[in-house]
Amino acid sequence: MGNQKQRREALIYHAKPQPGKIKIVPTKPYSTQRDLALAYSPGVAEPCLEIAKDKDNAYKYTSKGNLVAIISNGTAVLGLGNIGPEASKPVMEGKGLLFKIFADIDGIDIEVDTEDVDEFVQTVKMIAPTFGGINLEDIKAPEAFEIERRLKEELDIPVMHDDQHGTAIISAAALLNALELSEKKIEDARIVISGAGAAAVSCTKLYKAFGAKAENIVMLDSKGVIRKDAENLSASKKEFATDRKINTLAEAMVDADVFVGLSIANIVTAEMLESMAENPIVFAMANPDPEVDYDLAVKTRKDIIMATGRSDHPNQVNNVLGFPFIFRGALDVRATTINEEMKMAAVKALAELTKQPVPEQVNIAYGETRLTFGKEYIIPKPFDQRLISEIPPAVAKAAMDSGVAKNPIEDWDRYREELLQ
Ligand code: NAP
Ligand code: MG
Repeated sequence: MGNQKQRREALIYHAKPQPGKIKIVPTKPYSTQRDLALAYSPGVAEPCLEIAKDKDNAYKYTSKGNLVAIISNGTAVLGLGNIGPEASKPVMEGKGLLFKIFADIDGIDIEVDTEDVDEFVQTVKMIAPTFGGINLEDIKAPEAFEIERRLKEELDIPVMHDDQHGTAIISAAALLNALELSEKKIEDARIVISGAGAAAVSCTKLYKAFGAKAENIVMLDSKGVIRKDAENLSASKKEFATDRKINTLAEAMVDADVFVGLSIANIVTAEMLESMAENPIVFAMANPDPEVDYDLAVKTRKDIIMATGRSDHPNQVNNVLGFPFIFRGALDVRATTINEEMKMAAVKALAELTKQPVPEQVNIAYGETRLTFGKEYIIPKPFDQRLISEIPPAVAKAAMDSGVAKNPIEDWDRYREELLQ
C-alpha cells in the first residue's frame, strides 16, 4: 500500500481542494431569466412531453445517453475485500474520473447498501431509466455472476461487470500478441490458470472464444488443480476442470506455454518457471503483488514474455484500456447490450493497435525512447490518443453487425473525428 508519505499524499489528493474526485456542472446557459425559464419551468415541460410520447427521446433531450452508473455494494473492493458501500466510494469516483478523461463519458458512482442479490438487482433495475449504461464494479463472486446475468437479461441498456470482462478483454489482447511473438497458436497452447474467481473464470471463457482448447487448460483454486473427478464442484469451476490426474501448480506448470495468475502473490517459484515450455508467457496479475516477482521471472527465463497488473513494469494489464472505450462505442450506437461480439472486437482492436507505430507523444508520456511491438510492449499504454479513435468504432461496428445497435453509425470518418474532439 506504499509508505507513509504516499499514504498521506493519497489522502490529501482526495480531501483537497474539495472532498472527492467528481462534481456536476451545467451544460446550458443559465445567466438570464430567459435561460432559467428554458432550463426549468415552464420550458422544461416541452422535452418532458416529447419523452412521454417516446421514451427514446430521453437520448435527445437529457444526459441519459452519455451517463453511466458505476454501481457497487462494496463486497470485493480492489484487493481489500468486503469493506462496505461507503468505503468503496473512492474507487467508484475514481472510475468516474477515468470514464471522463479517457472517453468523455459522465460516470456517476452509486453505492448500494445490500449484499442480497434480489435486492441489488431490483435496485439497479429501478434506477436504470436514468442511465445510458451500467458498469457493475467490485461485487464479490459468485453473486456478481448472477447479478450481471439477470441485469443483462432484464435491461435494454449496456451492462458490464468490469472486474470480469475488463480484465478478460485486456489480457486476451495481450495473450494474442504474446502468442504471435512466441510463434505459438492459441489452439495448441497449454494454459495454466491460477485462480477460479470472477476474473479467472471470465478470462478463461474469453480465451476459449478465441480458440483455446478445453483439454489444454488446467485451472487451480486455493485447494489445487480443479479435477473432473473432484466432488462438489461449483458450476463455474466444473466448466474448467481437467481430466489430467495432477494436483499441484508445480505439476501443472511442466511444459506449459502460458501461465495466467488471477489468484494471490508469490506462488510461482523459479523452478516452476524453469519447467515451462520455451518462450513461456506469464501473466501474473494478482494485485498489488503478482504471483511471481517480475525481476525474479525475467532473471529466471530470458525467453519469457511477462505481464502484470502493475504500472512499474512493462505490459501492465490495466482495465482502463477497456471500459471507457467499450462503453463509448456501445453508447454511441445505443447498443442494447454489451455482447461477446463487442468484447471480441475490442480485444482484436487492442491487439492490432499495439502493432502500429507508436506516436511520439506516447513515448514522451511514458519516458520511453522507442516503444515498439515486442516482448516488453504487447498491449497499448493508457495515455495513447489512438485508443479513443480506434476502440469505440470497432465496438460500435460489432454492435451493428450483431444486430444490437439501435442507432447505427453511417459516416465512420465523421465519427472518428468526433471521438478525437
Ligand atoms: P476472487 O473472485 O476472490 O478469486 C480469487 C481466486 O483465487 C479464488 O478462486 C481462490 O480460490 C483463488 N486462490 C486463492 N489462493 C490460491 C492459490 N494459492 N492458488 C490458486 N488459486 C488461489 O478474486 P478476483 O476478482 O477473481 O481477483 C483475483 C486476483 O486477480 C486478485 O489479486 C485481483 O487483484 C487480481 N486481478 C487483477 C486484475 C488486473 O491486473 N487487471 C484484474 C482483476 C483481478 P477458491 O475459489 O478456492 O477460494
Ligand atoms: Mg474493480
